[in-house]
Amino acid sequence: MRNVILAESAGFCFGVKRAVEKSLEIQETYGKKIYTLGPLIHNNDVVNYLKENNIFSIELDDIDSLNEGDIIVIRSHGVPEETIELLNKKNLIVIDATCPFVTNIQKKVRKYSDKGYNIVILGDKSHPEVIGINGWCNNSAITTLNGEFDIEVPKKVCVVSQTTEKESNWKKTISNLSFMTKELLAFNTICSATEVRQKSVLELSKNVDAMIVIGGKNSSNTTKLYQIAKEHCENTIHVENSNDLPKNYIENANFKNIGITAGASTPDWIIEEVMAIMKNGLK
Ligand code: SF4
Repeated sequence: MRNVILAESAGFCFGVKRAVEKSLEIQETYGKKIYTLGPLIHNNDVVNYLKENNIFSIELDDIDSLNEGDIIVIRSHGVPEETIELLNKKNLIVIDATCPFVTNIQKKVRKYSDKGYNIVILGDKSHPEVIGINGWCNNSAITTLNGEFDIEVPKKVCVVSQTTEKESNWKKTISNLSFMTKELLAFNTICSATEVRQKSVLELSKNVDAMIVIGGKNSSNTTKLYQIAKEHCENTIHVENSNDLPKNYIENANFKNIGITAGASTPDWIIEEVMAIMKNGLK
């Protein structure tokens, strides 16, 4: 008999849940088609579910196709300050579903760049959350992907982190900056939802024969869960939903204990489907 164990903390985080619920609520209130600036979350199944509920993603480049009074939702990653100004100028109804934890980073970055600190962001500079944060200090931040710097760092620095970063990268960043700066103000802004997920996948992956990480292929927090799991469990796979489960994996008799975790954009219904198939096989 197989044992399928769900990580203690998996799936929708507070910020994503809030953004999805807010969008559904707003759509219902206005009773018309509404838009999200970019896909609301990194999960194709949820994006399709939203479409069925008259909620569509639109890119900033296409914003001119909207009319005055159209509703646009800002997703949990947040956006640069200038984007909010632009949307307001177009007289759109802007619903801000930026996760409050991300808003907190944006405020810090604005406050300390105004006070003369040079902002450093640990994170992926092409990720919308980092682009958004950088937009609150006039796009002047230095970004580091892993705590290493190949340019000269100014002496007075305020450092923050993308919410989905690994603690080890944060420690490396602080350690390197402490040699390079004279005045260092550090806010560890890694979200505890991320940390809790990462800790529970670390524990679980040490004790199972196989690990399944569920989440969008372009979701950064899911990718990090996958990397952590893979370090401790060779048979780790990353799937978007139950359709991606390989047949030989489902039927592998050596897998007696299977661990499951899911990124912050994965809804419960997808987790449940994967668990059912791994428990009972394909019907
Ligand atoms: S991971 Fe944390 S910061 Fe990011 S949306 Fe979720 S709750 Fe907010």
